[in-house]
Amino acid sequence: MANNNPSPRPMPTVKGIIADLDGVVYRGSEAIEGAVESFEAWHERCIPYCFVTNNSTRTPAEVCDKLHKLGVATVPEHIVTSANGTAALMASRWPSGSRAYVIGSTALADAIQAVGFELCEEQADCVVVGLDPAFDYVKMSKAVRLILGGAVFMGTNPDLLLPSEGGFLPGNGAVLASIAAACRTEPEIIGKPEPFLIERAITALGVPREQTIMIGDQIATDIAAGQRAGVYSVLVQTGVPEEHHSPIKPDLTVSNLADLII
Ligand SMILES: [Mg+2]
Repeated sequence: MANNNPSPRPMPTVKGIIADLDGVVYRGSEAIEGAVESFEAWHERCIPYCFVTNNSTRTPAEVCDKLHKLGVATVPEHIVTSANGTAALMASRWPSGSRAYVIGSTALADAIQAVGFELCEEQADCVVVGLDPAFDYVKMSKAVRLILGGAVFMGTNPDLLLPSEGGFLPGNGAVLASIAAACRTEPEIIGKPEPFLIERAITALGVPREQTIMIGDQIATDIAAGQRAGVYSVLVQTGVPEEHHSPIKPDLTVSNLADLII
């Protein structure tokens, strides 16, 4: 176990675990070494865990299936995605029957419809943008016109790059930036590094935040979101390379989940 924090705070007695998925539990379709065994051990010790992902393209049930196939016990209620987080935030802000123009996956559109929104391409109360491989100039034009007309601009997550087997792909943040440049309006972001998804996970776990840890492989999103939510943060170095110059310091750094002793 290595800790690069010059004045580390002690880890609390852990009553709940929040964990990122990509780069922590799996990489593509492969489980990361040590991850499945760690969650198995925590499950046996009855330490509840909740997964939080900026990926808006899969439903919690789909993520749950993937985790089951890898050997991780969980339930859809313990999977917080930026898609269902966005839908929940919208439902708290607008009355049922409000109108949304949605760019993104079926999972995102379904989550927004499920909380009472009408999907539309004009007279929208808000424009919601999640990762959409079919994003094009026509969709961009609709979003820009609606935002210029007063619709609220929201983004599921700000990730600029996505690692893939063939190299990096542009992430949702890059699409958001193109719309923001045209409108001169910044989107409201729901995913990490904002703390909203972490807050939902704390609620789902039902444990005190002082006794909750956030495990992630990215300082700029996972660790930042954990710290904003006031939970103890653990960086695991099995995902993207560490950002050595970040001003944000995790409470603890481990090379592998098997090294995380709680
Ligand atoms: Mg990750």
